[in-house]
Amino acid sequence: MKFTKIAVAVVAVMLTFAVAASAAEQKVRWKLAMTWGPTLSPFTDAVEEMAALVEEMSNGNFVIRIDASNKHKAPFGVLDMVKLGQYDMAHSASYYWKGKDINLLPFTTMPFGMTAPEQYAWFYEGGGLELMQKAYEPFGVLSFPGGNTGNQMGGWFRKEIKSLDDLKGLKMRIPGFAGEVLAKLGLAVTNIAPGELYTSLERGTIDALEWVGPGMDIKMGFHKIAPYYYTGWHEPATELQFLVNKKNFEKLTPHNQAILKAAMKLASYDMYIKNYDMSADAWSKIETEYPNIKIMTFPEPVMDAMKKANDELLADYAKDKPLLKEVLDSQAAYLKKVRKWTEMSDYRYLKDNVK
Ligand code: CA
Repeated sequence: MKFTKIAVAVVAVMLTFAVAASAAEQKVRWKLAMTWGPTLSPFTDAVEEMAALVEEMSNGNFVIRIDASNKHKAPFGVLDMVKLGQYDMAHSASYYWKGKDINLLPFTTMPFGMTAPEQYAWFYEGGGLELMQKAYEPFGVLSFPGGNTGNQMGGWFRKEIKSLDDLKGLKMRIPGFAGEVLAKLGLAVTNIAPGELYTSLERGTIDALEWVGPGMDIKMGFHKIAPYYYTGWHEPATELQFLVNKKNFEKLTPHNQAILKAAMKLASYDMYIKNYDMSADAWSKIETEYPNIKIMTFPEPVMDAMKKANDELLADYAKDKPLLKEVLDSQAAYLKKVRKWTEMSDYRYLKDNVK
């Protein structure tokens, strides 16, 4: 009896150590690199919220350190850093990689494409998320929606755009497929890291730029140099992305994987809401606090030319690019279906109620 009791006690002690050891093994410390600087609300808020949720839901066992671009010095290098395992995660926008791999372009937004609710429906119910994983597969990276800006404004210009000729030769910062469209119309298109936008405009490196919407733009001060603020056509639903090193994700316990996925999804939704609120707030003050800002819409012939260039580019852009074609076809088919409902619901409602 005595011996059995001792044996039981020994086993109990060993089990305690085993549980403690396994808890220690489960302690996960990850690093995340952002394309953004340390304070770029609401983009950075989404990342901070995601990391805080992960830590809280894991009882402090899964901790993600966030490095902003001033720390890692490579705002457009974050995909490579995740691919190489230098970082476990990143927060960026998929269309920044169009020069690296054209298949990654369509997952942020497309000109004249889906609105945010339409695009979320495509991602989660229409096969978009699966296609995004397929496109990131060669990088050993998983990609998840990372927060939406909703419809973006068309950008800041020093002078009024009265015709297509006024656009020709302009040096403009504009990423994604919209950049391809404007290049076709004769603009010199470039992408510049968010932290360098204001100085680039101030120094004349660029003549015009687009960034996001009033909530984020006005704080940047672009209106002091380029007061013509145009309504949007080019980014109706800009979705940011969380990029995750696939091998490191697979090393997580199923519990931590579930925590990470839930935290990314919740933080993304909160960013969408926060950005909407920030823009509504900024817009409500625009006339009184920033009277020099001139709200403009591109003239109809300019819009028509953009639409025509967009359609022509889309028609032959995906030739010999089977995966890009698959993604663009999927988006076009989903837009065709979902837009009919949007027209019947939100569009009709607004048309009847906005006077
Ligand atoms: Ca933008």
